[in-house]
Amino acid sequence: MKKTDQTMITKNKNVYFEECIEAIKNSDNIFLASHIHPDGDNIGSLLALGMALKTFNKNVNIIKVDDIPKDYLFLPNIDLFVEPNPKDPIDLFISLDCSDLDRLGIGKELAIKANRLINIDHHITNENFGDINIVDPFASATGELVYHLIKKIGIEINKDIATCIYVAISTDTGSFMYDSTTSETHMIAADLISKGINTNNIIVNLYQSRSIERTKLFLKTLNTLEVIFNGKVAFVMLTQDMLKECNANMEDSEGIISFVRDIEGIEVACILKEYKENEIKLSLRSKNIVDVSEICFKFNGGGHKRAAGCTIFDNIKNVKNIISDEIYKYFR
Ligand code: AMP
Ligand code: MN
Ligand code: MN
Repeated sequence: MKKTDQTMITKNKNVYFEECIEAIKNSDNIFLASHIHPDGDNIGSLLALGMALKTFNKNVNIIKVDDIPKDYLFLPNIDLFVEPNPKDPIDLFISLDCSDLDRLGIGKELAIKANRLINIDHHITNENFGDINIVDPFASATGELVYHLIKKIGIEINKDIATCIYVAISTDTGSFMYDSTTSETHMIAADLISKGINTNNIIVNLYQSRSIERTKLFLKTLNTLEVIFNGKVAFVMLTQDMLKECNANMEDSEGIISFVRDIEGIEVACILKEYKENEIKLSLRSKNIVDVSEICFKFNGGGHKRAAGCTIFDNIKNVKNIISDEIYKYFR
């Protein structure tokens, strides 16, 4: 993987923002789509940019490629997410928070069909698949890049747009805790708060509304905890049977991995989620040393230094062995 230089990115970013604005101005039918397993950064960024472009008199379509987790249903204009209509002409497709085209799921087809493709993202593993790429791995969230884009277009950031960008940044920084959080992140957040957003309402909806089913799933999953490599690596696993026993969905697993990472002395935390019998989605988190995006990249996944994911097609026990062998390389 190429290492990226922050000054180069900042220099190029302004040029790419100009190109991006030009492409937006020259397009009437603009499509955006979520990534598979959409998260707060993805959903917040899509809604914010979608709302902004609508005020710019564009025909904006936000395509839903996967279920929207319940946590985000409180967001303003969430019903802007619609099913795709393959007949629609697509002048411009804007991909947000996606490191590669496959992450777009059924949205990939629309992206390829579009006359122009813009790729706005902050994953270190981004493949620069757009005609125009605004990729900044130093941004804490895609929401930060969307904030700059909206401001540069000259669209007023109203309370609803501010709410969505705030959610994007808050969720992708672990509530402003990850080391990706910079002074700029806080300055953007301050500006968003000045738009009159209800931060308490956002926090209660995002972080203080865990259902009983989800709580039971937390307990069950935490019971599988295994700590290896001298207390530095922790694994938990979540099977389809466990979901059934708790009457929960896979989206209810959100947050378990942070709890495991937060154990004293743990450097790498891993959750193995059984989506199907031989389809295991991994989430990895780290604290100080290990770049977990490097590990996930080896398995066609990606992410960031401190948070990454991938899917491995094998049974859960084999996947655990495969991934612990990879992690072990960092602790030899
Ligand atoms: P997760 O573990 O799913 O919460 O994801 C952590 C980070 O890694 C997020 O920024 C995701 O967008 C990214 N990520 C997760 N899975 C993949 C994947 N299969 N390919 C690329 N990036 C991923
Ligand atoms: Mn995302
Ligand atoms: Mn993100």
